[in-house]
Amino acid sequence: MKKIGVIGAGVMGCGVAQSFAQHGYQVVLVDISEEVLIKAKEDIYNNVRFSAFYTNNCSLDPEKVLSNIYFSNNYESIKKVDFLVENVTENYELKEEVYKQVSELVNEGCILMVNTSCIPITKIAALTKDPTKVVGTHFMNPVPIKNTVETIRGYYTSEETINKTKELLYDIGKEIVLVNDYPGFVSNRISHLYMNEAAFVVQDQVATPEDVDRIFKQCYSHKMGPLETADLIGLDTVVNSLDVLFNTYQDSKFKCCPLLRKMVDAGLYGKKSGQGFYTY
Ligand code: NAD
Repeated sequence: MKKIGVIGAGVMGCGVAQSFAQHGYQVVLVDISEEVLIKAKEDIYNNVRFSAFYTNNCSLDPEKVLSNIYFSNNYESIKKVDFLVENVTENYELKEEVYKQVSELVNEGCILMVNTSCIPITKIAALTKDPTKVVGTHFMNPVPIKNTVETIRGYYTSEETINKTKELLYDIGKEIVLVNDYPGFVSNRISHLYMNEAAFVVQDQVATPEDVDRIFKQCYSHKMGPLETADLIGLDTVVNSLDVLFNTYQDSKFKCCPLLRKMVDAGLYGKKSGQGFYTY
């Protein structure tokens, strides 16, 4: 079975590592923070335990899933992986450092799967030795229960890379929607506009977060409202993504709402910090 490397053990990295480990893959999960790795182990254990309970699936054993994941703060441990999914913070300079390192470390055939909200895949691929092996895989949150991955073809991504990625994702129960490369792709180029505008609506005191979200759920039959979605993603990630969209398109429609920035400055990141537009 192919070996999977996962870089970044935050919200997305944990979900990606769990999804592969649940399907029997050997996973190496790397983060620079020892504290984050300890929390990742606890979070994955609890997520598997709860999903086994809710889905009544006894084959989901948290100990077994964890035994398929090697937690590490050393990049050397990704040397022998066949696929590497990168999930570090949505910041180009940070990702740039990561790709310069991993491109030197991984095997020649290794496919680099970029999990970014908005950063162009072609720009990331340009940092690596072989851009034909770089593909965007924009996983949805929470990863273990979302069955579709927005997959992005960079300028040089080869058909072989796309096919291998598709097969791998299919094997863990996910189908792909293949799109071309422009910042934010399809999902976030559109969704960040409405999350940002929803924050402006709250800032202008037109409605409370609850009422903004109720309009979307009760009138438009959306499963979640824009502010619940922003909280789930992480308001820090939403702000970083809006900044990428604004800087790349140079279009004022992506200018980040000051309320969102203020909340991030105050440490209100949403679900992951316990407080955002809602309390968790
Ligand atoms: P997060 O802040 O929860 O986690 C990021 C992790 O990266 C942190 O644990 C941090 O310690 C780690 N990190 C930072 N620099 C590192 C380095 N040099 N080496 C290794 N690890 C490093 O963020 P997240 O929500 O998991 O997002 C990760 C990526 O996935 C971002 O690019 C984001 O845009 C994208 N994404 C997020 C969502 C979402 O809903 N949150 C959905 C799809 C894609």
